[in-house]
Amino acid sequence: MFLGKIGVKEELVKREVQLNSSLLCVLCNLGQETCNHFFVECMDIWKIWSGWCKSWGVTWTFLETVKSCF
Ligand SMILES: [Zn+2]
Repeated sequence: MFLGKIGVKEELVKREVQLNSSLLCVLCNLGQETCNHFFVECMDIWKIWSGWCKSWGVTWTFLETVKSCF
């Protein structure tokens, strides 16, 4: 659904956008900034998702991949 539509660095490079930085995630600087990294793998973003879920009183399941959601 949103794969390929979110402006993560991996997608920007595919669209031939010139980046002035590496492809590493700007938050954790540990993994390449892909859609999967952004929504599943990045522990820094996971902390943000977890905080929102906690404040909304909902639980969230840790996903293997973004594609597994659809
Ligand atoms: Zn990250």
